[in-house]
Amino acid sequence: MRTSADLVVLGAGPSGLAAAWRAARRGLSVTVLERAGHVGGLSASFEVAGIRVDHGSHRLHPATPPHLLADLRRLLGDDLQTRPRNGRLRIAGRFVGFPLRAGELARRLPPGLLAAVARDAVTAPLRSGGRGFPEAPGGGSRTVRGGDRADTYAGALRASLGPALYDALYAPYAVKLWGLPGEEIDGDQARRRVTADSPWKIAKRILRGQPGGQGKIFHYPRRGFGQIVDALAEAAVAAGAEIRLGTACTRIEPAEGSVVLRTSAGPALPEAAPGRTEGAAGGPAGEAAGPDTAGGRIEAGRVFSTIPMPALARLVEPGPPEEVVRAAGRLAFRAMVLVYAVHEGGRWTPYDAHYLPGPDTPVTRISEPANYRVSADDPAGRTVLCFEIPCAAGDGIWATEDFSGLVDETLAASGLPPVDLADLVVRRVPHVYPVYATGYAAHLAGLDAWAATVPNVTTFGRLGLFAHDNTHHAMAMGYDAVDALTATGWDASAWRAARARFSAHVVED
Ligand SMILES: Cc1cc2nc3c(=O)[nH]c(=O)nc-3n(C[C@H](O)[C@H](O)[C@H](O)COP(=O)(O)OP(=O)(O)OC[C@H]3O[C@@H](n4cnc5c(N)ncnc54)[C@H](O)[C@@H]3O)c2cc1C
Repeated sequence: MRTSADLVVLGAGPSGLAAAWRAARRGLSVTVLERAGHVGGLSASFEVAGIRVDHGSHRLHPATPPHLLADLRRLLGDDLQTRPRNGRLRIAGRFVGFPLRAGELARRLPPGLLAAVARDAVTAPLRSGGRGFPEAPGGGSRTVRGGDRADTYAGALRASLGPALYDALYAPYAVKLWGLPGEEIDGDQARRRVTADSPWKIAKRILRGQPGGQGKIFHYPRRGFGQIVDALAEAAVAAGAEIRLGTACTRIEPAEGSVVLRTSAGPALPEAAPGRTEGAAGGPAGEAAGPDTAGGRIEAGRVFSTIPMPALARLVEPGPPEEVVRAAGRLAFRAMVLVYAVHEGGRWTPYDAHYLPGPDTPVTRISEPANYRVSADDPAGRTVLCFEIPCAAGDGIWATEDFSGLVDETLAASGLPPVDLADLVVRRVPHVYPVYATGYAAHLAGLDAWAATVPNVTTFGRLGLFAHDNTHHAMAMGYDAVDALTATGWDASAWRAARARFSAHVVED
């Protein structure tokens, strides 16, 4: 085990692993500290009833930049499959294909809703000045709703999509995903989340009688989404990086020209086993060093932190000023309970995912991982369904012990086939979605400005930048961070340019 390294990376999710691999390939000595007992973070896979499953529906989107896709193809070979999307979304009490398709929407939506969507499409220029999404604050355009000039998720989507689709689809989904009504969520959430193939564009195509729809394919590895992070970890280790699992960083002491990190044994989690309730994410360990013992010390030339930015603020000594600590405390992450239902009866449906935005169940999505890939490893007579239930850590859903009733009720309420339930496995993940509550930007800016002053420490990744992002975005951050490392130190202007690119990331569903 190293006692010093050119680079120490906190967190072995895709952002940390991508950085570790790229830096090790450049010849730097790299150590990754990962608190969990496995690599991959939210992008890891694990096994339930002999079937590889993910932390909710995960797919590699076609928007992945070509250089990242090429690297992943080199690592995964034919195991990285290209698959047709085959999802369904429940709207107005019926299922339509997702991603949305104009022709199908026109046929399947109730006539009243369709007429309202069409009316909203015609009047859209009056609502948004013909610009589609209102721009971010500072960009010169603010959403006007009910006379007040507020930049909110509700305001931005009502202006761009119209009230009919917003009320039917996005308003109830926001409450389920982020625990807040759209009026209390910042407009940034709409700009970062709602994709190019928005219902607004669909609605325009309906009006013009054009066929359409994007996002028809996705990439997915034969052995589960986590095969991507396992491959990144193996490549990083092969290039010379050391990955310490079950090792939490407990203190960061920036010094002249280097940083001293203290570590302790983290909760090294076991593989998921059927019939068990798991505490948090688990998965394959990959090729890595064993758990750290208590009281470790490592000295780094530079630290890349991909752990939650508020957690970073608690680790650095001396810590941030009181107002920054308060700002950090106001940034909230949404948690998620993942319920895996083992169905003894072959494939449940031919669909990869069912999206459930409506208020009649707290479940937002049900995915069937075996339908994301073609794999002889998946048994013919059994399948696993993953129910995603966003919540707040510690609330009633988080504390629920028996989810079998919720599974049955959700399927019945959504008009979906029942399951022949052989087992349930539950995982609870505390940091899943950054919540962009109104006012978050000021709290984040204060914390981010302080983080930029910590010598030789750089924060990035989904948790590290409080960014609602995809795996390819996380990987891109890791690559860009390494590219800002120079022979003599750190290229601050290259990193500023990279941060500007990250702020343009839009999440794909
Ligand atoms: C339900 C859901 C569905 C998603 N679907 C998709 C999808 O379809 N396609 C897609 O591309 N992306 C998807 N994503 C996003 C994707 O999971 C993330 O973008 C990606 O995993 C972020 O990578 P990261 O490395 O930044 O963070 P993470 O994956 O969160 O990794 C951070 C790591 O840091 C570790 N850590 C935390 N604290 C400490 C500490 N103190 N010390 C040491 N280590 C620590 C954690 O254990 C974790 O391993 C989805 C996410 C969710 C929640």
